[in-house]
Amino acid sequence: MDAKQLQSLKNNNEQLASFIVRLTNFYEGLSPDIDAELSKLRSHLSGNVDFTLAKVSINKINQLFMLEPTNLRNLTQQWVRQLESDIKAFQRYVEDEALVKKAVGVATALNKPISSVGQVLPLYEKLIKCYQAGLKADTPVIEPKDSPAASKTVQLKQDLIDELSLLLQTYARINPEDTYIASLRERIDEELTEEELLSSCLLLIRIMVQETVTEATTAGKIIHRLNNALGNINGEVTTSISKSVESFEARQTRQKALRNVLEDMEDAFDGEQNVDQLKEQAQHYLGQLANSLSAGEDADREEQEGLMTLLVSMQQQLSSLQKQTDSYRKKLVEQRVNMYTDPLTKVPNRMAYNERANKEWQKCQQQNQPMNIAVIDVDHFKRINDQYGHAAGDKTLQAIARYLKTRLHTNEFLARWGGEEFILLIPDLATQQLNDRLDELRIGLAQLPFKFKQERLTVTVSIGGTECRTGEELDAAFERADKCLYQAKAGGRNQVVVQESA
Ligand code: GH3
Ligand code: MG
Ligand code: MG
Repeated sequence: MDAKQLQSLKNNNEQLASFIVRLTNFYEGLSPDIDAELSKLRSHLSGNVDFTLAKVSINKINQLFMLEPTNLRNLTQQWVRQLESDIKAFQRYVEDEALVKKAVGVATALNKPISSVGQVLPLYEKLIKCYQAGLKADTPVIEPKDSPAASKTVQLKQDLIDELSLLLQTYARINPEDTYIASLRERIDEELTEEELLSSCLLLIRIMVQETVTEATTAGKIIHRLNNALGNINGEVTTSISKSVESFEARQTRQKALRNVLEDMEDAFDGEQNVDQLKEQAQHYLGQLANSLSAGEDADREEQEGLMTLLVSMQQQLSSLQKQTDSYRKKLVEQRVNMYTDPLTKVPNRMAYNERANKEWQKCQQQNQPMNIAVIDVDHFKRINDQYGHAAGDKTLQAIARYLKTRLHTNEFLARWGGEEFILLIPDLATQQLNDRLDELRIGLAQLPFKFKQERLTVTVSIGGTECRTGEELDAAFERADKCLYQAKAGGRNQVVVQESA
């Protein structure tokens, strides 16, 4: 082969190769088998060219191409049917007449014979445009991020996170081994999406329901045991009563026999008899009397023994029952305390507050006395967490709660509202007195000596307080106190804001 021939062969080969590349690009994705075979063909024609193998590949590709038209036709028919049903759905949901007309135009185009996928695609494109226009017309008004509705949602989410975090804390203290709860607690401090938050709430609800069911089963078992034990006692008492009836009847029979012996004796001693006869008769009757008496004694002893056994067995059953119910009662008391106590700070929790506040408020209204409500919020608490760690934050909350608890007057009630917020109920103070009382607590708290990582730290709180007005809902008063707290924060923190009742 001369140089010219070689060059022409090379050119031909390159042309073929680039044709195959274009063919590959055109068909790519249509059929995995053709894709694979074209790739093989490319490798046979590049580097060390192997025409024999290339020929095998070309034959295979040919066969695949012969099959493909049927596949393509099926695919086209499938697309046409899909497109028809999409148009129908569009007409059902969209009211805009102009858009519906456009969609009908697409449907009309479908009535003409369609033989290739290429003809369907532009029609799809048209329908998608109709959909897009329809979507725009129907798009709900999206609230800007800082609108009141959006900030309400953000607040709701925060409230949910706070509540969930408190519940998790309570649960984690009761079940410290639960690793899932532990990991959830860690994650809740980071950003949770709405879905994650909701599914976490759901999970916690499931766990709680499960626990309630377990608790109910335990209670059920105890009641079952109690019932069994009472049944046993009842059985024994019934047996003992029927035995008593039997022994009463036996005693009556014995007494009758005794009476008979005595009557016989009287008759016998009435006649005129000599001493020997009398002696003989006396011996006879005495023997009968002794027999009757000893039979009576045996029966009495038996009866008494039976009674003793019964009493002992009843006593044993009752004391074991008492033990069981005692331990159950203790558990219930413990559970009740746990239910109403914040596990971290050991002060009453929000549930306890809700119950207590409603009761107190009813009482105050009946006695026509004022009641005050105050919300205490730690200033820049997040910084403590961020700078010294979550554990330092926890210790701070514990110290604050401890301080407040020791300064509480007997008629005051403190609870942890959630996060770094506490709530205080103070009955019977006028506005100025309320202000003074709250300020006293604020100053005391600011003087607590905190030390983290060898650093002395002052922790302050802001407090909002108000009086509940006669006839108003407690929640309304709480909102007012919360607004006062907000003012205290805005005013520079470490201060008390109290709003007079109207
Ligand atoms: P402000 O002065 O405005 O109240 O600022 P703040 O940082 O105190 O308030 P913010 O609401 O921004 O942050 C409160 C933080 O309290 C966020 C939350 O992670 C943290 N927190 C809530 N509960 C607990 C808890 O039980 N332990 C700890 N360590 N941190 C908690
Ligand atoms: Mg707060
Ligand atoms: Mg705070």
